[in-house]
Amino acid sequence: MQFCPTIASLHTFRGQIPNGKKIGFIPTMGALHEGHGSLIAQSAAQNDITIVSVFVNPTQFGPNEDLAHYPRTLEADIALAERMGADAVFAPTAAEMYPTGRKAAITYHIEGLGDLLCGFSRPGHFHGVVQVVSMLLHIVTPHRAYFGLKDYQQFRILATLILEQHFPVEIVGCNIVREQDGLAMSSRNRYLRSEERPQALFLYDTLTYIKQHLPQFQTVANVKDFVDQQCAKYPLVKLDYFDILNDRTLQVAENLDATSHPRAFMAAFLGKTRLIDNMSLYSHSSV
Ligand code: AMP
Repeated sequence: MQFCPTIASLHTFRGQIPNGKKIGFIPTMGALHEGHGSLIAQSAAQNDITIVSVFVNPTQFGPNEDLAHYPRTLEADIALAERMGADAVFAPTAAEMYPTGRKAAITYHIEGLGDLLCGFSRPGHFHGVVQVVSMLLHIVTPHRAYFGLKDYQQFRILATLILEQHFPVEIVGCNIVREQDGLAMSSRNRYLRSEERPQALFLYDTLTYIKQHLPQFQTVANVKDFVDQQCAKYPLVKLDYFDILNDRTLQVAENLDATSHPRAFMAAFLGKTRLIDNMSLYSHSSV
């Protein structure tokens, strides 16, 4: 396994890959867990070469967010990436990625898709994500790029970026990996205090209940009332948002019929830790 701490070293590694070999790429912010591991394993199974990037991208954090405290565990990340089948880990510095300063002068505007859900709660977040993923795709030039459906809105925005900007890459969405009790794996779960951890199940348990009892709700408004009632049972949870959107368009779902492709989206704070989750309400799978 090759460790590439600079763009030049990544280019050297990339240049040695024979033509015709398929390259899979997994962009991450590190603090890798089994959720990231499943993306790496999927890429390793579907491609000849798998490259993982570890880069805590400053431009996707708001001024009051956890950039300074975001977990950095590079040695363990390299070991996990190797174990899951990666051939290289690319971990550039922010100074190299943003040669003209902390924020690049050229930014993307995301029409519509970037203003709702996490985009509303975290203004500018998706602009930073789109900026860094486009930079990484230019540097790595993979054939396939793997993203988790845990960040479903991010996945749709990046699929749109790749389509509209004609990046010659296939985007692959990967199922949400959960802890045994259902909590979606996240690098931020390690921040949860012991008394908060059981209440973090609010997200998964609420989404699962809604999915399993969908016919009894009848309307989106009834589901929202139920979520508000649930909040009262979890005193350590502060709901950031809950919404049901058509997961093809990310427009508000008109109703709960399968034809509206309803997917429930949720973000909640437990203390300072912000967790997100989502679940399709019409497909049979639990993702
Ligand atoms: P991050 O390091 O949080 O930026 O995540 C890197 C990639 O891993 C993103 O595409 C995430 O959606 C994906 N990911 C993170 N957690 C999970 C999970 N529990 N299940 C599936 N994919 C995940």
